[in-house]
Amino acid sequence: MGTPCRDAGRFVFVLTASSGLRTLILPRTANNIYSVFRTFTPQKHYTMPQSYQDIFQNNRRWADEKTAENAEYFAEMAKGQTPEYLYIGCSDSRVAAEEMMGLKPGELFVHRNVANVVNGIDMNAASAIQYAVENLRVKHIIVCGHYGCGGVKAAMEPADLGLLNPWLRNIRDVYRLHHAELDAIADEQERYDRLVELNVQEQCVNVIKMACVQERYIVDEFPIVHGWVFDMKTGLLKDLEIDFEQILHDIQKIYDLTNSTWVMCRKQQQ
Ligand SMILES: [Zn+2]
Repeated sequence: MGTPCRDAGRFVFVLTASSGLRTLILPRTANNIYSVFRTFTPQKHYTMPQSYQDIFQNNRRWADEKTAENAEYFAEMAKGQTPEYLYIGCSDSRVAAEEMMGLKPGELFVHRNVANVVNGIDMNAASAIQYAVENLRVKHIIVCGHYGCGGVKAAMEPADLGLLNPWLRNIRDVYRLHHAELDAIADEQERYDRLVELNVQEQCVNVIKMACVQERYIVDEFPIVHGWVFDMKTGLLKDLEIDFEQILHDIQKIYDLTNSTWVMCRKQQQ
């Protein structure tokens, strides 16, 4: 697909149709921008790899099967969604959220990122959570990590990982919070597995810190926040059984964000 421009200063990542994620160097001049993009223009007789073509064949077969089962399947789906669950999981391709939970399209609202992190200044996660809580009125929020998580593993390594540094710092902070427990685990694999669990637990706490979650819970007694870990060696989900009520009670000494007028009015009516 061509070579990157060499006279530049910054790296960018480009998703190419044939070969996945590639690294480019961002050019300094407009002319060089054009030269870079020319190198990425598909050739006249370029054909997609068979695996890419297969996706559309699979899609047509799936749509045909769904329509054969229920002629109104897509018409019903297009009317809207009423999921009871918000799932916050890792981007790892091996964790198929709906499939492992036995849920159908429309039953799970999903947000995924590297190592299932909920960061207070991540507008992407915050928007997904607020929309799920305030508009979809989900009953449960699930933070689901998985053993063998590459993001958690990377956060255990003493290495400069560039753009990943600030993201993985969230997980290094989890290690710092629980270093006494983690450092007492001699076996590295066990320590890794425990950090996966503690990361889920702390990301649950971060969800509970959010005003929209606290306010909706006071008014409606939902959503409930859960922490799970997926074990891909067995295919089974493990419920960490975090004590949502206790965590909420404890953190509100510091993170009580429930003084909105509408919440006060609703509390007085109850
Ligand atoms: Zn992962």
